[in-house]
Amino acid sequence: MRLLLVEDDATLAGQLRDTLREAGFAVDVAENGVDAEHLGMEEDYDLVVLDLGLPDKPGLDVLRAWRAAGRHMPVLILTARDAWYEKVDGFKAGADDYLTKPFHVQELLARLQALARRQKVPAAPELRVGKYRLDEDRQALVAEDGETVPLTRTEFRLLRYLLLHPGQVLSKTRLTEHVYEYDADKDSNVIEVYVNRLRQKLGKDVIKTRRGQGYVYQADE
Ligand code: CA
Repeated sequence: MRLLLVEDDATLAGQLRDTLREAGFAVDVAENGVDAEHLGMEEDYDLVVLDLGLPDKPGLDVLRAWRAAGRHMPVLILTARDAWYEKVDGFKAGADDYLTKPFHVQELLARLQALARRQKVPAAPELRVGKYRLDEDRQALVAEDGETVPLTRTEFRLLRYLLLHPGQVLSKTRLTEHVYEYDADKDSNVIEVYVNRLRQKLGKDVIKTRRGQGYVYQADE
């Protein structure tokens, strides 16, 4: 799941980037409004965390520009501005959620996870695959009987993306785009390796190969 973090406070940006990476997001950071707008137009993000007070271009203008251009990724505004009318302005500009500083990281993560789920699978309380549910906090598969299968960070990112797009053919390129960060060394052949590792953990039929097209996760009804 790719996330754009727009924050001009370098210390906060660094801390948040680490926390979000640990939580399983592929994170790109923009430190001013112009870079943020550009990245949001060019790259396919699954989520955006947007500060409002930014150099070069205010956060609200960036958000309005994305929405005017038909960029619909979920955006959570994270700002020190806590007046009710500022929140109203944020939602009117197209925000999906609004959290004020100071904040608890656990609340930010819970809100982002909820936004991501709402976006793809309406009202799904959790992601399930076979006998497991995907525990997003522990980045593991957990069965009813407590059996736990740990996932590496990349396995977790890849599986979550597949589970959020059931029945869709996902090309290796698209999976690479959503699993790795902007400046990562993106080798789409590596996806094959990770898909095989997930098959070893989940059974080989859960993720099907469409030759020449990509992979499909078929949810069981
Ligand atoms: Ca700021």
